[in-house]
Amino acid sequence: MQGYIININKVKDEDLIVTILTESRLKTLYRFYGARHANINLGYKIDFEAVASAKSTISMLREVLPLSAKWMLQSNRFFIWQQFIKLMFRHLKDVTELDPFYFHLLEETSIMMERQNPQRVVIESYLQLLEYEGRLHDDFQCFICDEAIEKNLVLARSFLPAHQTCVFGELLEKKRIEKLFESKSTLYLEDDEVTHLWRLLQEGF
Ligand SMILES: [Zn+2]
Repeated sequence: MQGYIININKVKDEDLIVTILTESRLKTLYRFYGARHANINLGYKIDFEAVASAKSTISMLREVLPLSAKWMLQSNRFFIWQQFIKLMFRHLKDVTELDPFYFHLLEETSIMMERQNPQRVVIESYLQLLEYEGRLHDDFQCFICDEAIEKNLVLARSFLPAHQTCVFGELLEKKRIEKLFESKSTLYLEDDEVTHLWRLLQEGF
């Protein structure tokens, strides 16, 4: 089975509880400490086996084979990827069964990470997630007062649009955000706009 490690909790001694996002579910598995184990890290893609154990209520993580991409050795890219993965875990942690969308989103994001600006990549992936979950507010109605937004706007957490008079924040041009929501591409955005969106994204999905 293959999946992405989206959370690692240290338990007693060096044992770990590892949460893995696979195509159809979130799996929480126990890994006993052992020097012969393959090195694992948050955000790694791995091939693995989940083995039921009489000693524990959760299955054991076994036969781990890291399938990490080359770009993961670039600390700047890997850091942003790990932030994205942490946000994904916080967003999905109470879910067991999962739509394949999430696994495939990580697959695509990982491929894009190889060549493109990592902040832009995760913002574009996040827009896909918002649209998939029906949370992309491309009608541009202010989420505070429900009135239409005519010109400029402020984006809140989850990229929720609002009037400048309704929410405090950096003023953005509606036309540019409209284009972003429609294309799910950051191509037209300046670097400072991307940085702003990335900061916003870090507040949570
Ligand atoms: Zn408003």
